[in-house]
Formats: sequence, C-alpha cells, structure tokens
Amino acid sequence: MSLLKKYTLDGRKDPEIRDLPTDSKKDEVAREKIDELTLKNQKRIIDLQDRLYADGREGLIIVLQAMDAAGKDSTVRHVLGGINPQGVDVYSFKQPSSEELSHDFLWRANTHLPKRGKIAVFNRSYYEDVLVVQVHQLQKGYALPERIARMSPEKFFKQRYRQIRNYEEYLYENGYRLVKVFLNVSKEKQKERFLERIDLPEKNWKFSSSDLKEREHWDEYQRIYQEVISATATEENPWYVIPADHKWYARYLISEAIARTMKDMDPQYPTLPKSEAARLQECKEILLAEDD
Ligand code: AMP
Ligand code: MG
Repeated sequence: MSLLKKYTLDGRKDPEIRDLPTDSKKDEVAREKIDELTLKNQKRIIDLQDRLYADGREGLIIVLQAMDAAGKDSTVRHVLGGINPQGVDVYSFKQPSSEELSHDFLWRANTHLPKRGKIAVFNRSYYEDVLVVQVHQLQKGYALPERIARMSPEKFFKQRYRQIRNYEEYLYENGYRLVKVFLNVSKEKQKERFLERIDLPEKNWKFSSSDLKEREHWDEYQRIYQEVISATATEENPWYVIPADHKWYARYLISEAIARTMKDMDPQYPTLPKSEAARLQECKEILLAEDD
C-alpha cells in the first residue's frame, strides 16, 4: 500500500485528523530510502511541468495550509525548487487589504489563479476565510448586509464550506486540478521551532510575538481544521493531511501527491498538424543548404 494513501482524505472513510501521526515513526521508514524517493519525484515533477506548460490545457493549484512553523515555505522551496521558474507562481495570502475586503472572499483567490499550463502555489489561501476568520470571528467586523450579518456564526461558516466546495468543483470542471495540503505539525514541534526562531539571529525575522497569540488558540484551530477538512474533502479535490514534524518525510509525501496528480493530468507535448510538420522539414532543408 502506498504511504500517501492513509494521509489522503477524499470524503469517503476519512479518519479524524487527531488520529493521524504528525511524524514518520509509525510508518517505520528509513530516511535514506525516503530521500531517494523524494529526489525521484522531483525529477518526475520537472518532466511533467515541462509537458504541462507545453500542453497548456490544464492548470495546477497547490494549496498549503498549516499552523505557524509547520514548514510551508521550506517545503515548497525544496519540492518545487528544481522546476522552470516561468511555470510557477507563488502567492502568499496575507491579511486582506481594504480592496480585497470590499469584495467577496473568493475574489482574491480568483485573481491569482494560474493560466492553463501553469502551477500556482497558494501559501495559505481562501481557507483562511474559514480558519483565522472563524477563530477570531473577524466576519463580525465586515461590512455585510443585515440578512447575512444577523446569521449565526455556525450557519455563516457552514455556508462558506459549501461555497468553497462548489468553487473547487467549478475549478475542476474548468480545467484546474488542486492539491490541498495540511501540514500537520505537533504542538511540541512548533514550540521547538519557535525557540529556534528566537535563538538564531538569522531566523528572528520569521518570528512575531503574534505567533504566540495564535498558539494560545491551538485547540480551537485543530477543531476547526477538522471541521473544514471534512466538509471540503472530495474525491476530485482531496485533502492531504501530511505529518510535518519530520520535514524530510513531509517533503516526500508532498512530492508524491504533486507527482501523482500531475501524472493523472497526463499532459502531452502538442503534435504539429501535418502542414506545419512539412513546413519544419522545409526549414530544415533551407538551413542545411546554407553555406557557411
Ligand atoms: P504569514 O503567513 O506568517 O506571513 O502571516 C500571514 C497572516 O495573514 C496570517 O496570520 C494569516 O492568518 C493572515 N491572513 C491570511 N488570510 C487572512 C484572511 N482572509 N483574514 C484574516 N487574516 C488572514
Ligand atoms: Mg507567521
């Protein structure tokens, strides 16, 4: 059985997130072997990305969600580092601007969709609008019509889950594939990485005291992640709940999820119509006939 399978939630018989491991121990894998497989996947991804770009019929969106210090940035850098930069856009979802807040919550995601043939990495995503917004009840401060503002928070967010599910279905039906990753880090590992960010001067910039404030809401975030992931995991747009305490293992599992999805997309180099293929031959003859 593939190692990725037990971390794939597709809305059928999904496990609870808290019952899934946050490290590699249970899987009894050897790091050396796993690193080899990661390298193989990176090569597969490079080849498939070249085809995807040439083919230009389908786009890929990689959604990364996690608690702080789970390794979102370093994982992407590592897994996608080798591919042609022309083919990838990375977009980080920060606190929304007033321009963004004056639109519906999916608007900014929509403005950052990749063109067909390209890959977009969403470092955080529209899922923040049901995560951080729900934990802090930020919607209460939004300018919304009375019929929406008076809704209970439960109903408001249930509606958003449905809207996200429908949006992702819409994307699938319009030539996009999604790889949705939740980097599942333990609270202990987060503490360790925060301490490292405080102790090492070159990592200070990654830490902000507000990260500690979010950590206080750890249990609430876990509960809401569970709810959000169960509500939006489908066969076409599954979630990958990836153990993130051992970065080398997370990298392998993510590379596997991306490589498999791209293989399933089956991108092809375009073949020329007969008339143009003949024209290529003519060009070749002209070039060969040049005297130099
Ligand atoms: P970082 O990823 O550390 O650069 O932080 C970005 C911050 O923006 C995080 O604290 C996110 O929770 C926050 N953020 C992203 N999207 C939203 C949103 N829609 N509403 C409120 N905060 C958001
Ligand atoms: Mg942060």
